[in-house]
Amino acid sequence: SRHEISYFGAGPAPLPTPVVEAAGQAFVNFNNSGLGLGEISHRSPTANKILDDTKAHLTALLDIPDNYEILFMQGGGSGEFSAVVQNLVPVWIERRRRRAEADLSRANPDADKSHIDELVFQRLQKEVDEELKLDYLVTGSWSLKASQEAARLLGSKYVNVAVDARKANGGKFGKIPAEDTWSLTPTKREGGKGSAFVYMCDNETVDGVEFPAFPKALEPQGQDAEDERLIVSDMSSNFISRKVDVSKYAVIFGGAQKNIGVTGITIVIVRKDLLPPLTATPPPALLHRLNIGGLPGPVVLDYATIAKNNSLYNTLPIFNLWVAGKVMGDLMDIFGAQKVGGQEKIADQKAELIYGVLDKYPQVYQVVPDKTVRSRMNICFRVCGGDDAKEKEFIAGAEKRSLQGLKGHRSVGGMRASNYNAVPLENVQKLVKYLEDFASGH
Ligand code: PMP
Repeated sequence: SRHEISYFGAGPAPLPTPVVEAAGQAFVNFNNSGLGLGEISHRSPTANKILDDTKAHLTALLDIPDNYEILFMQGGGSGEFSAVVQNLVPVWIERRRRRAEADLSRANPDADKSHIDELVFQRLQKEVDEELKLDYLVTGSWSLKASQEAARLLGSKYVNVAVDARKANGGKFGKIPAEDTWSLTPTKREGGKGSAFVYMCDNETVDGVEFPAFPKALEPQGQDAEDERLIVSDMSSNFISRKVDVSKYAVIFGGAQKNIGVTGITIVIVRKDLLPPLTATPPPALLHRLNIGGLPGPVVLDYATIAKNNSLYNTLPIFNLWVAGKVMGDLMDIFGAQKVGGQEKIADQKAELIYGVLDKYPQVYQVVPDKTVRSRMNICFRVCGGDDAKEKEFIAGAEKRSLQGLKGHRSVGGMRASNYNAVPLENVQKLVKYLEDFASGH
């Protein structure tokens, strides 16, 4: 049965058993309505209530400020690799367009609008060509993929890899280089004009690398738009596992299938002033004429459209939404005033138990990432220096004890114990016991 298995898969990942049980019921006959949640309209009052409740739980858990919008989207984390480019590059263009329009109108008081528009277009074309930059902190496989998607959409000349963590680490991920070695596009204060955004992946699922804290280099510098760094963070694999100062980010996103729920929902938290009416997107005709990367892009990835329609622009999977809402509502019930801080303590405690035993037997286990950036969620290690036979033996022994999902990502090999929110302490203790026993036998 479910209780006999300890599952450490990286995603899809375990859900709390009470949620799975309630979800089974909700799929068959939601609240005794005679219909299941996979069957009702996404525009029904029931669906609307689920949407409102889910937003309220997330807002409470993470203390999301009023000036942020929560969007429920589809397309997964990978969809957001494209969406952030599609949504934030136009913000950069629109800010530049407004400034160009103001400057050029002042300089040419007698010119008519179409003449000004033409001058604006010419200036923008030059600025895009020379100054449009997207900064990527490449600290693992997922931020690498995100940077590759930006390069695919826009062209690689627009992508500034401010850090490639493999370079200082023998070609492999596992460290985050010191911030003073990052080559972020300079802001105005630093003598430059800033980038469209800075992209980071808060927790690298494959490589087991997590930012220990918000990077100092990305702290806000001032109010001027050119001093502002818009920070985009992929929190797919550590969402709602620790406190986050949402106000420091332009966009936070995460696919649901690790800490939040089942695959099929992507949560996006976006600062409202990056959406219309505060920042209107530039006219589609202008984007077409500038001819960069197929902008404006698919409407289902357009944050403004999704926000305007309260995430119901098209059919939202309400069952999946309900699961996410239930997970978050239950966390609020469990942790109350501690909110996500309560979950953080448990996540830390579980991770310490696992790293503790790994560190105790350095001859047998080698943790892959550097100690300073060890993920609390995805614990990556090798057995006996990556000896193939020993690693196979380790996995086979684990399976005998019903410890499942411990194999590392196919791209890196080794072991990975994913320690998401719904992995019970008890299962972590079983894993720790096995790690002890296996080590004693070697
Ligand atoms: N970002 C991170 C950190 C991930 O772990 C994953 C998936 N494992 C993705 C993005 C991609 O998500 P999806 O498969 O939902 O597109």
